[in-house]
Amino acid sequence: MSNAPAGAPAKSSHALPSYLNPDHLGPWGIYLQQVDRVTPYLGGLSRWVETLKRPKRALIVDVPIELDNGSMAHFEGYRVQHNTSRGPGKGGVRFHQDVTLSEVMALSAWMSVKNAAVNLPFGGAKGGIRVDPKTLSRGELERLTRRYTSEIGIIIGPNKDIPAPDVNTNEQIMAWMMDTYSMNEGATASGVVTGKPLALGGSLGRREATGRGVFTVGQEAAQHIGLDITQAKVAVQGFGNVGGIAAKLFAQAGATVVAVQDHGGTIYKASGLDVPALLRHVEEHGSVKGFEQASGPVETLPDAAFWAVDCDILIPAALEQQITAANADQIKARMVIEGANGPTTPEADDILHEKGILVVPDVIANAGGVTVSYFEWVQDFSSFFWTEDDINTRLVRILREAFAGIWQVAAEHRVSLRTATFIVACSRILQARELRGLYP
Ligand code: GLU
Repeated sequence: MSNAPAGAPAKSSHALPSYLNPDHLGPWGIYLQQVDRVTPYLGGLSRWVETLKRPKRALIVDVPIELDNGSMAHFEGYRVQHNTSRGPGKGGVRFHQDVTLSEVMALSAWMSVKNAAVNLPFGGAKGGIRVDPKTLSRGELERLTRRYTSEIGIIIGPNKDIPAPDVNTNEQIMAWMMDTYSMNEGATASGVVTGKPLALGGSLGRREATGRGVFTVGQEAAQHIGLDITQAKVAVQGFGNVGGIAAKLFAQAGATVVAVQDHGGTIYKASGLDVPALLRHVEEHGSVKGFEQASGPVETLPDAAFWAVDCDILIPAALEQQITAANADQIKARMVIEGANGPTTPEADDILHEKGILVVPDVIANAGGVTVSYFEWVQDFSSFFWTEDDINTRLVRILREAFAGIWQVAAEHRVSLRTATFIVACSRILQARELRGLYP
């Protein structure tokens, strides 16, 4: 144990490798800046803050598969356990052509913060494979998933680290992961992943949970700033499991969804898009491109124009680093609800703050998914399954309580909701760290 005074940076025997360097501002650099912003508020616990600045464990795996044409392909996969002070690692697995170790590290760290922010008994972890899954057949995707699961099988498990869906992964992929792990263990281990199909121990309400959480937290935030949802205009980036469901719930609550952007383009209708019809269109055609509705023409906008759309609520629900210094100035919304992980850069955060736009950060706004993952994990352990009403009621209660606590901390310290969420979460993580102490 070091005798350094509280708050003194811990000594380290090696210079940081480039992906741990805060000057290299990818997602991991952004995360490190967020930790720096919170450190002054951690009191004596800041002595342990270095713990948060490096992942506990990071595994890089080669994932070789035989393609349908008989040739061999190799993909790079990762599983990073950022922190396990409060419980087993928990976080999704993403399949995307741009996945890097540094990105997965940041995503795993944001899981630590998110899980602690809503007080789930989990640490943070994340996984990914650098692959464009759209280029693979179903058989190739299954072989890729199974080989990846087998490779990371040495560090995952129901009490060690529990993967779940993320970008481009779904219930079927979770079923293959659960089966592969179970076959290797010689026992059915349904608690090894969440987001499974219902027939394999999945939970009611899990698929909609992230979008429902975005809506619930958005409702709470709207109330605090006196924004009437029934009069609100909403713009959504990403129309998958998160953005699509959030848009549906906002529309059901009386809001007008005026703009939606996805990989197929940007569509706009001032009087409101027909969200259920748009969901059907996306299900059938894979993107918002070509959407038409009976009530009149739908405009197509250039993608860059999305950010300047006249709206009250902006929901980035796609990938990281979408709201940047280059477009934050154009945003007209009264609040931004981060459905995606890491969609706003720190410079953009500051610009939005100066403009008086409330940012509801990812680490609370999209915590609904992992909250119902927690319910799924608990249900699997007890082999007793809850009703959807039960799940949604508990989800809403947890998110509302967490949001109220964070709002109070933000008001007390006069900081952004992001810094407030980090204060709450990092204090919980580092308190557990301190209580457990250093081994040996
Ligand atoms: N991938 C989701 C997230 O980023 C859910 C993770 C989980 O359920 O473990 O929060």
